[in-house]
Amino acid sequence: MRLVEAGHTVVLVEQGPAERSETIRMPLGLRSGLARPHTRYKSLSSARQVHLAGRAVDLHHGIGLGGSAAINAMIHTRGSPDIYDRWNMPGVNTDWSYQACLPFFRKYERAAHGASECRGRDGPLHLTQSANLESCERDFINCCGLVGLGENSDFNTYGLLGAGAFDVSIYKGVRQDTYETFLQAIMHSNLLTTFTGSVATRILLDGKRARGIALSRDNGDEIEIGCRRDVIVCAGALGSPQLLFNSGIGDGAALQLAGIDCNLHLPTVGKNLQDHVEFHIPVKTVRSKSLNFSMAAARWGWRLLRRGKMINAPVRVGAFLGGENAELGLIQYHFYRWLLRDDWAPDYGTPGFQISVGLVRPKSRGSLEFRKNDLVANPSYLSHDDDVAAMVRGIRVLRSVINRMVDVDKTAGIPFEPVGEQELVSHLRAKSTSSFHYSGTCVMGLAGSSVVDGTLMVHGVTGLRVVDASVFPVLPNTNTGASVCMVAEKACWHILNT
Ligand SMILES: Cc1cc2nc3c(=O)[nH]c(=O)nc-3n(C[C@H](O)[C@H](O)[C@H](O)COP(=O)(O)OP(=O)(O)OC[C@H]3O[C@@H](n4cnc5c(N)ncnc54)[C@H](O)[C@@H]3O)c2cc1C
Repeated sequence: MRLVEAGHTVVLVEQGPAERSETIRMPLGLRSGLARPHTRYKSLSSARQVHLAGRAVDLHHGIGLGGSAAINAMIHTRGSPDIYDRWNMPGVNTDWSYQACLPFFRKYERAAHGASECRGRDGPLHLTQSANLESCERDFINCCGLVGLGENSDFNTYGLLGAGAFDVSIYKGVRQDTYETFLQAIMHSNLLTTFTGSVATRILLDGKRARGIALSRDNGDEIEIGCRRDVIVCAGALGSPQLLFNSGIGDGAALQLAGIDCNLHLPTVGKNLQDHVEFHIPVKTVRSKSLNFSMAAARWGWRLLRRGKMINAPVRVGAFLGGENAELGLIQYHFYRWLLRDDWAPDYGTPGFQISVGLVRPKSRGSLEFRKNDLVANPSYLSHDDDVAAMVRGIRVLRSVINRMVDVDKTAGIPFEPVGEQELVSHLRAKSTSSFHYSGTCVMGLAGSSVVDGTLMVHGVTGLRVVDASVFPVLPNTNTGASVCMVAEKACWHILNT
């Protein structure tokens, strides 16, 4: 949007569809989405995880206009300032400290609540805070207070710690994803050409200058598109490094093995894979108004009036727990108002809720391995002992919260207690999964140890940038969508001003 508004000609290439079905626009529309095949997301099965009892984990990600933002849970949190201060590495040609990033968060946000010096008021992304919480959600916040977590009325203003309602990107009952926010307004501009159902297969290079891309369309056509200025790769933390690799930018030996000519030996492509590992605790309730029943009638409320249960985010409240050494925001809890099966489908008929324990400052690091047009992702979840210890503590604290909640069916038992440390770790390894916050695989930093510089230009190639979650040096200690939008705003500033 920013580039078109500034008068640039832009060609947008997206492998998924343009379709904006009600399932995408209706905030609760995807409640059971991840369990079924869908045109708007893909799932990559990870490599078998040594530290998750040898299991492979589903790495879901969105495709189509809006990307993963079109299927995500719409929680909008920036994370702790110290994370961005760590992005600001000495010698990197741009300031990425929180103070430098803050104007770019504010630029795209439009929030009526929160302190004005922290909040964007005039940007295109509408943010709201869920009101009319259900009794079980209020009870969760209350009980977090009782065990010493405290309450937090605004995670984007007063720091992360404590329990409260998340900001969500929903406006007038409709999901505000990156399509609705940034793209829709310029879809009919003469300056924008959009190719959907089109896979970018290669970046075209003239020596060490990007001159365009090759793409393969759904109808079998192969076309090449030239560019005068920059090729901007934003295919996500799984897609962007793969596209660089397929274009001969990556580890020379791996390229040779894959039978791809090496244009630039850049061994950091695909390294530094980070994700938040997550463990779910299902809780049966006595009479809670959870959403474990068919929502067919509620859908009509949305269609006709944009009212009712379907206008709500799937996760409206949560909490952050600090580390024992006061590390800010080490564990994030998400409160789901229904029980989920392992495949993310609702467990219909059983009243209850589910709370996830997410490790948001993981020390485990994984990597991607490339084959020609194929990818093996190994996030190496829980490979660091500190991650295991933090998750165990997070589960124990959560259990003491659940134990105090009024509507919990105590006869059904509260999972995981009393169990010894070893048994709990076994549960953790047997059940943990992804939070879908992949990042770091085209990491920003100094030449020689990273993929892109501080202006997100690929080291050693002119006119080629990467702009998505893959450039994060350190994963924000919360959901990642807000940071991706900030990175995109800052990248546009560089493109327009340098
Ligand atoms: C189920 C789910 C729930 C989530 N919940 C939240 C949440 O509540 N809050 C939050 O902040 N974050 C959430 N996230 C994470 C957040 O949505 C992502 O971190 C963010 O959208 C990533 O943005 P991106 O631009 O890096 O990649 P994506 O949004 O994944 O975009 C990449 C795009 O590139 C396209 N693409 C890839 N390769 C090619 C190719 N070769 N040619 C053409 N197109 C290609 C893809 O189809 C996709 O549209 C969630 C993610 C998922 C999957």
